[in-house]
Formats: sequence, structure tokens, C-alpha cells
Amino acid sequence: MENWESYVRKVVPYVPGEQPRQENIIKLNTNENPYPPAPGVVRALHDMNTGKLRKYPDPTCKLLVDAIAENYGLKSSQVFVGVGSDDVLAMIYLTFFNSEKPILFPDITYSFYDVWADMLRVPYEVKPLDNHFKIIKEDYYGPNGGVIFPNPNAPTGIYMELSKVEDIISHNRDVIVVVDEAYIDFGGASALPLIDKYDNLIVVQTFSKSRSMAGMRIGYAMGNEKLIRYLNDVKYSFNSYTMNETALVLGTEAMRDKAYFEETCRKIIHTREWTKEELRKLGFSFGDSMSNFIFAEHESVPAKELFEALKKAGIYVRYFNKPRIDNFLRISIGTDEEMCELVEFLKEYIK
Ligand SMILES: *Cc1c(COP(=O)(O)O)cnc(C)c1O
Repeated sequence: MENWESYVRKVVPYVPGEQPRQENIIKLNTNENPYPPAPGVVRALHDMNTGKLRKYPDPTCKLLVDAIAENYGLKSSQVFVGVGSDDVLAMIYLTFFNSEKPILFPDITYSFYDVWADMLRVPYEVKPLDNHFKIIKEDYYGPNGGVIFPNPNAPTGIYMELSKVEDIISHNRDVIVVVDEAYIDFGGASALPLIDKYDNLIVVQTFSKSRSMAGMRIGYAMGNEKLIRYLNDVKYSFNSYTMNETALVLGTEAMRDKAYFEETCRKIIHTREWTKEELRKLGFSFGDSMSNFIFAEHESVPAKELFEALKKAGIYVRYFNKPRIDNFLRISIGTDEEMCELVEFLKEYIK
């Protein structure tokens, strides 16, 4: 080995879902929204003054931060934005997870959590979900350096009632508790109202799923002013211009169109419930997903086989070859037409 190699920060990177180049596939593998961004976003993009790209963007991201704050009835000083919630979460790790004690998260969860911990050398401990893939709240009572979990959880789609979320927060007043709400707009109750009561709570959301803008890369954190100040200090020490001009303008438009957002979320929930019924009839079982995907297991056909057969047919879903979940498929909710095609294919394949 060359000597310099001993000084390399060696990491095992996160593996994102496949983004195939063909256009004619049914893409149900990365939980993207099947509907386009709000009409105002399209207009704003069309009207954008490209002359502005000459300049650096606003480092405070005021336009976007104000729109988010207004939407949730918060002060702008309670909102932090980043390049997707992945960027926001990485900043949270850097800022708040600096204890000697391990941070805690579930064994089956967003697979970026252990990657950031390894990369930033944050000690961690995983807490197994129960046999129904539910978080056992008592597991999070012990001494730790911070707690992070998605609600609903990913890739299971299982939602934890707000009273249990609050219970975990209230048992961890000495550390930061991060609730990653990437999927909260598809039916669950947000922990956001608790940020006034608990100064150790950070709620993270994203434009990637419920706001149809995964390609724009916008995520945000909400918490009390002091937490947000600490986050900004770290951000400015790392990269002060995280959000590009286009993201600031288009994100603001997306956040302002509440009616379009509510309508698309409603449609996805409706399609999800229809898909659940159809999958059940075909011999699949799954927990009660409150997200824009279903995490399902078939009674006789192995998940890996189904994953490959679907892919051959041009239907992409996600398969994780990991302990406890290697017989499950994570199927994102597409349009009604896309889900019909999925169900028709499965009917033929499974019979
Ligand atoms: C999709 C997802 C994210 C990241 O979303 P961004 O596109 O980076 O905003 C974060 N957490 C969970 C649980 C997710 O599923």
C-alpha cells in the first residue's frame, strides 16, 4: 500500500436507488412523486432571469426560508435549509452528534444513518425493530449521544403515533432527537408542534417526495432558534452557498402552492390504499404503510426473483439484500395507471 493511502478517510458509501436512463420504464424504486412539480414552479422556471446566475446566491436563503416558515407558522429563525434532507441530516450529525456515547437508531431504517456515523466517526448502536417492524420506544431510554429515526420509518413505511415519538423525546432531554419526516405528508401526524415544548427536538422534511422535487435537492430542518443557529454556524463553516438560485426560487413557489400539494398527496394516498388491496389479493403481506411506498413480502415467491422479473418487464422496484428484509420489495406509489400495470404483471407472473 502506498503511504498516503493510510491517511485516506475510507468509507463504505451509501448506495442510492438506480436511476435508469430509459424513459419508457415504470419507475417505482426511489419513492419519487409521480406527479410533476406545482404549476407555479414551471412558470417560475420559464421566467427565470438567468442573468442572476452571474452572482452568488443569497447565503441566508431568505426567500425559501421565509416561505417554509410561513407555511408552518414558524419564525424564519426556526428554519434551516439544505441540499436535500440528506445534506441537512449530514449537517445535523456534524453539529449535534459529538458525544462519546453512541447515537441510537433502528436496525432497519434509512441506510444513510450508519454511513454518516461511520464517515464522521460518530459511535452508534442499532436497536432492533420488533417482529412487526415497530420501533420499541423503551430501547431509546438508556444513556446515548443522540437519537435519530424516520417517522414513518423507511423502508418499512410504518408510522409511530405521536405520543410514542414524544415519549422518546421526553426521555432524552440531554441529547438531540431528530425525527426524519421524509414521508409524513402521506398520512401521519408531524412532531412539529412539539418543537416549542422540547428544545432538543429537530424535525426534518424534504421537497423530494411529497413536493415532487427530488431533482431540485431541497430539504429543511425545523426546531428552536438556538438549534437552528448552531446548524447555521456549522453550515457557514463548511459551505456558505449551499442552495443555488434556481432551488431558492422554485422551492419557494412549490411551498406556496398548498392546494396543489394537498391534492397530489391525497391522490397518492388513494392510489396506495388501492394498491394495498390488490397486493393483498395476490398473496402479499405488509405493515400498514403511511408513506408513498409499500414494503411487501409474498407468501411463496421470493422477493429477489420478483425484483428481477419486474425489472425485466421494465418495472423498477427496490430490493435490499440485508438481514431481516431480504424477502421484501419496496414498491413506490406511482400513478393509478402505473400501479395497474404493476398489478397486472404480478397477476400473470404469480398465478
Ligand atoms: C428520501 C429520504 C431522505 C432524503 O431525501 P432528500 O432527497 O435528500 O431530501 C431522507 N430520509 C429518508 C428517510 C428518506 O426516505
